[in-house]
Amino acid sequence: MRAPNLPTPTLRVHCVLTPLLIALCVSLPNGPARTVLYTVTGFACAGLIALGTRRYHPRDPTGWRLVAAGVAAWILGDLVYSYTEVVLGAEPFPSLADVFYLAAYPLLTLGLWSFVRSRSGGGDREGVIDTAIIAIGFALLSWIFLMQPTLADGTASVPARVLAALYPVGDVLLLALLVRLFTSSGARTASFRLLGAGVLLMLVTDSAYQVQSLNGVYSGILDAGWLASYACVAAAALHPSMRRLTEVESTTGVEFSRGRLLALMFASLLSPGTMLLQLALGLSPEPWAVGLSSVVLFVLVVLRMSGLLTRVQEQSEQLAALARTDALTGLPNRRSGDAELHRMQQSALAGGHPLSAAMLDLDRFKSFNDTFGHPAGDQLLLQAATAWGGALDGTGAVLARWGGEEFLVLLPGRDLAEAAAVVEGLRPRTPLAQTFSAGVAQWDRTEPLADLVARADAALYEAKHAGRDRVVTAAGPGPRPADLTPLR
Ligand code: GH3
Ligand code: MG
Ligand code: MG
Repeated sequence: MRAPNLPTPTLRVHCVLTPLLIALCVSLPNGPARTVLYTVTGFACAGLIALGTRRYHPRDPTGWRLVAAGVAAWILGDLVYSYTEVVLGAEPFPSLADVFYLAAYPLLTLGLWSFVRSRSGGGDREGVIDTAIIAIGFALLSWIFLMQPTLADGTASVPARVLAALYPVGDVLLLALLVRLFTSSGARTASFRLLGAGVLLMLVTDSAYQVQSLNGVYSGILDAGWLASYACVAAAALHPSMRRLTEVESTTGVEFSRGRLLALMFASLLSPGTMLLQLALGLSPEPWAVGLSSVVLFVLVVLRMSGLLTRVQEQSEQLAALARTDALTGLPNRRSGDAELHRMQQSALAGGHPLSAAMLDLDRFKSFNDTFGHPAGDQLLLQAATAWGGALDGTGAVLARWGGEEFLVLLPGRDLAEAAAVVEGLRPRTPLAQTFSAGVAQWDRTEPLADLVARADAALYEAKHAGRDRVVTAAGPGPRPADLTPLR
């Protein structure tokens, strides 16, 4: 068996042979031999993408098939271009070749879109906004330096100008999907990087070609750029990690990394930066394009911020809820029980009604743990909390977990006798034939709440001493703890 992520023989041969073919191709003078070698190498790359897809049968092969078709369309376009120019002796632009060339953009774009869809499993609003921010920054550059000059070229007919301007539009689309691919979650495998490098090389070569044709030049080295880009994509498809390209791997999404922040900042600054540069160079800037793209960029940045704010708010609410809740029983914990007691004190003062508190403690819980085990003890705590909580539901009383197997019941609107009756009512509800002891105290309207709790605790202590399994009411507030002489 082959180790899963080692290059296969096919990939190794491709890595050695294809660069040699590319070097040979661009070293040949323009002519039939060069055209044949270019076409063969290009189609071989498309074929290798198809071969990799067959060999590794990824979960969703659509993206790979579309990318292979896009590369093949570009080579076909080149073939038709050469045929028109050399064999028919006609002007190759515009011609049938453009149909193939232009078809490649949607094929490649849809291919990348298919990868993104199968990787992120949908629902990544932030990734989409980031992509839009970066794509709009580059769209503005493309408009200023490629599309607008192409459309303004007085030497060509209007249809020819529009057709020529579609090429940079295709590149912006492709760039947007490349950025989206990099903002998607999922593993950054060798295949992923090779695919990204291939598409990036396509974009760079294509843009260089467009800049050159605006100036009426063409250097043959661009052929090496295109072939190398196809070869990179073929290597991506032949690498064993290609299967993971279409796998959903991260549930948390992509981290908002420093690199991403830098990329967003750079993209947002492209629009004002280009204008400033043009002004500094004495060129006439394009206020409409800069203004419009800035408006869209600002709206996107604010949308992105609102998304982050919502996320921070949700997380802080979750954290606050966690900080209030006891993990085992789901009851309010000691901190929020205490806060609740203070709120009840305020409304008892305002409304003039009584307030009582009871401390409950399971009897001989240690031996329950020793007999049935700690997990069973946990279950008992949970079941008791659920049973008591259910009984208190709708009575206005609040049950909180105070400590290990101690619970505090807050009983607003109940005097001592009423509160003791409510707690009595909980005793038969205790699960698994367990018992508890309880101490009940009524707030005297002046004592600190800590004293109220201490009196309930003292009554609980009395209940334990009197033999457990009972509810004891506390007498009125006695001497403060500082006045107590320690018991021997
Ligand atoms: P008493 O009737 O005097 O209250 O006896 P007791 O054994 O219940 O009292 P004690 O305070 O000596 O022991 C309490 C035990 O509760 C000790 C500890 O192991 C257990 N305990 C505390 N918290 C938890 C918990 O979260 N889960 C479980 N399973 N046991 C706990
Ligand atoms: Mg106990
Ligand atoms: Mg205890």
